Amino acid sequence: MITAGGIDEVRRLIGEAKKAGKTIGFVPTMGALHEGHLSLVRRAKSECDYVAVSVFVNPTQFGEGEDLDKYPRDIEKDSAMLSAEGTDLLFFPTTDDMYPDGFDTWVVPGGPASILEGERRPGHFKGVCTVVLKLFQIVSPDKAFFGQKDAQQFTVLNRMVIDLNLALQMIECPIVREADGLAMSSRNAYLNSKERKAAVIFNQAITRGAEIIKDGNSTRDQVITEISKVLSKEPLARLDYAEIVNAEDFSVIEKPRGVVYILIAGFIGGTRLIDNIKLKIEK
Ligand code: AMP
Repeated sequence: MITAGGIDEVRRLIGEAKKAGKTIGFVPTMGALHEGHLSLVRRAKSECDYVAVSVFVNPTQFGEGEDLDKYPRDIEKDSAMLSAEGTDLLFFPTTDDMYPDGFDTWVVPGGPASILEGERRPGHFKGVCTVVLKLFQIVSPDKAFFGQKDAQQFTVLNRMVIDLNLALQMIECPIVREADGLAMSSRNAYLNSKERKAAVIFNQAITRGAEIIKDGNSTRDQVITEISKVLSKEPLARLDYAEIVNAEDFSVIEKPRGVVYILIAGFIGGTRLIDNIKLKIEK
């Protein structure tokens, strides 16, 4: 694995790989890697000849008072994990590389970015779209791999790829979970052992939501009420939102039909966690 020192070096290495006829797979991350990230790398390896991974804690997607400063960082460990997976290129830019003096051009997403995470984290998706477009411009991948864990992010970025005519394929990969069902996340590192045990309630709540939604007769309100009821059993947990949206465009569905995400966000102590289940309602 080569760890690239800068944008020009990434361009040169990718250029050489393309000249050799290789297809490029790309996995953007913020580091503090776990099995969820590695599942994307493995998928990229299975579908592409050359795999590039970026590790960049993007300051523009963090809001005032969020966890930018304390976000876990361990590039040595990340690098060893990526190398063991057979990653070809690790791109680890500095903030100055990505946002040099005078930087002032932004991607401002509409539609699916306007609700839920977009509403609660103003400017978050603007930061995500801007950095991901910049990374796409640098790496010029054939395929980019993202986790369903951040379903709204995937939908917003997919919209950006369509709207801006980007010549790459977006791949959504399944959520990797701990044995008890908790979705893997770099932010799980913030949880103490009591909180870690309690955090499983988010998955239990949406799993219950998925059970009752499958019959095709439940309304959005009924499902959300049931999810809230399950969550209220865990005193350490606090609900931010539970929602059901159309998987295509993230519009809220009153009478769930077709392919939907059941989404949840909430707090365990000071830690904010998200999770979701994607399912098809046949009826
Ligand atoms: P992050 O480093 O949190 O920005 O995540 C980088 C990529 O890994 C995103 O596409 C996430 O959706 C994905 N990811 C994070 N956690 C998981 C997980 N538990 N399972 C699958 N993908 C994940």
